[in-house]
Amino acid sequence: MRGLYIHIPFCVKKCAYCDFYSVPSADEYIGNFADAVIIEAQKYNKLICSTFYIGGGTPSILGTENLNRLLSGIYAAFDLRRMAEATIEVNPDSATPAFLKTAKRRGFNRVSIGVQSLVDTELKSVGRIHTADQATAAVMNARQAGFKSISADLIIGLPEQNWTSLRLSLESLTGLEIQHLSLYCLSLEPGTPLAENPPKKLPSDNIQAKLFDKACDFLDRHGFIHYEISNFAKPGYECKHNLNYWRGGEYVGLGPAAASHFEGKRYKNKADLEAYLNRPTKQVTEEETLPPAEKAAEEAMLRLRLLQEGLDIDEMAERFGEPTVRSLMKRLNRLVIEGSLLREDAGYRLNPAKVLVSNPILARVLGD
Ligand code: SF4
Repeated sequence: MRGLYIHIPFCVKKCAYCDFYSVPSADEYIGNFADAVIIEAQKYNKLICSTFYIGGGTPSILGTENLNRLLSGIYAAFDLRRMAEATIEVNPDSATPAFLKTAKRRGFNRVSIGVQSLVDTELKSVGRIHTADQATAAVMNARQAGFKSISADLIIGLPEQNWTSLRLSLESLTGLEIQHLSLYCLSLEPGTPLAENPPKKLPSDNIQAKLFDKACDFLDRHGFIHYEISNFAKPGYECKHNLNYWRGGEYVGLGPAAASHFEGKRYKNKADLEAYLNRPTKQVTEEETLPPAEKAAEEAMLRLRLLQEGLDIDEMAERFGEPTVRSLMKRLNRLVIEGSLLREDAGYRLNPAKVLVSNPILARVLGD
C-alpha cells in the first residue's frame, strides 16, 4: 500500500498554537503553487498510490478553480485508479458548499474538518477565525455534498475549557453523525504565540488528562473505537491513509515541508514556499536511509500508536531478521515489566492507561 500526500501551505491567519508550516494565503501565489505541485508530481511518473490525502495548512483555501487545476495535473501524474480512500482537509470558514461538491465530484470520499471546538469563546481564545455555527454548517454541507465519511478535529485543553464545554462539542458532533474524530491535546509549541504568551486560564495537565479520559468514555458509549492514540472511528471508518503511515508503509509527499518514505528512503521538502515555487523538484532535504535496526525500531514505535492492532513481533522478526529485532525486543520487554506495554501472544500493545504519557514510552522504543 502506498499513500500520496499534498501539503497546502496556506492559511488565512495563523492560529496561536500552530507550528505547522503555513504562510498567509495570497491569491497570486495559489495558482502558481498548484502548477509547482504538478511539476513535482511528474517526477513520480505514474506511480500507483492507493490512498490520497490533501492536508495543510488549509486546502479549502484553494477554492474550486485551483482545486480543479491541481487535481487535473495530479490525476495525470499518478496512477490513482485503485484508490481506496481520498481525504481532503477543510476549515469551516472556507469549506463552501461549492468547494465540497467539487471535491466530491473530483474523487474525494472523505473529508476532515478543522472544527477544534463548538464553543465560540474557546475558538476565539486560540485565534481560530471560524465560529461554532460555521463548523456545524461545514459538517452539514459536507454531508449534503455526498460525503459519507466525515472526520472532525477537536482540541482538549483550550483556555477555560471544562467537561461541560467539551461535552457540548462532543454531543454536537456525534449528533451530527460524523464517523471519525481526532482528539488532540493542546501543547505549547516553542515559538508559537501561545507558548510566548500563555493564557492564564489554561487547564492544567491533570485537568487535560481528566478531560481526555471522559472524552474517551463518551466516545466509547457512542460507538467510536479508540484505534490510535489521538483517533477514534466508527467501525470501518479508520483513516486508511494514516493507517498506512502508522504501519510503516510507503508514502510520497508533495509541496513545501512535505515528508516522504519511498523506496527505502526518508526525505522531506524544505519548508520554503518561495524556493518551492521557483524549483519544485529541487527541495529535498534531510534524505536518509535508515539502517535495518533503526528502521525496525521506528516501525515498532509507529505501530504501537495503534491501540487495538499493536505490534506483531514475529512478523517483524520475519521481515527484519531475528538478530536485528533482538535489542528492540529487550526494550519492549522492559516496558512490559514496567507496565507501559502489554504483551499478548506474539504482540505488544500500548497499555491503554498510558495513552496520555505515550511520548516518553515511544521514545524509549526507539532507544532514546
Ligand atoms: S488553520 Fe490549521 S494549519 Fe492553519 S494556522 Fe490554524 S492550525 Fe495551523
